[in-house]
Amino acid sequence: MENTNCGVCQKPKANLECGICHDPICKKCAQFLEESTFSYLKTIPPQLKHTVFCGPCYDKNVAPELEQYEADMRKATTITIFMTDDTKTTSRFSRKEKAIEIKDCPDREEVMMRLAFLAVKAGFNALIDVEIKSEKVLPGGKYQYSKWSGKGIPTQITSSRFL
Ligand SMILES: [Zn+2]
Ligand SMILES: [Zn+2]
Repeated sequence: MENTNCGVCQKPKANLECGICHDPICKKCAQFLEESTFSYLKTIPPQLKHTVFCGPCYDKNVAPELEQYEADMRKATTITIFMTDDTKTTSRFSRKEKAIEIKDCPDREEVMMRLAFLAVKAGFNALIDVEIKSEKVLPGGKYQYSKWSGKGIPTQITSSRFL
């Protein structure tokens, strides 16, 4: 592919390919996305699984998704969280949603953030009965690390007293 013309600048330097339209593209014109960028989504849409894009495909498929993702991420940091031992406060809150579960995280903060993110994605502003656990893992018996998991029930709180 050494002398392939870039679909954008037309220079014969295209050694990459847009993941969506497969147009040849040079490094200068390509838009890159880190593989882990959308990792908080429950299922990553196929068009967001690529790492190289041409400008038009990026603008059309990635940029708006990224904007939404970042907005949801900001929202996730603001949702109200009640742990399992807050049941006195939360006893009258709705528990009709299925609990969200997160597994295999490197730390507690990530479990919390992932739970919150999925709650926001599902349209809720709070999580109740949140339970976080860690488990020690000894791969090969040498280095010990912890694997974190957690769950919580997403709910909508309307009383400003709790927000
Ligand atoms: Zn180019
Ligand atoms: Zn493209």
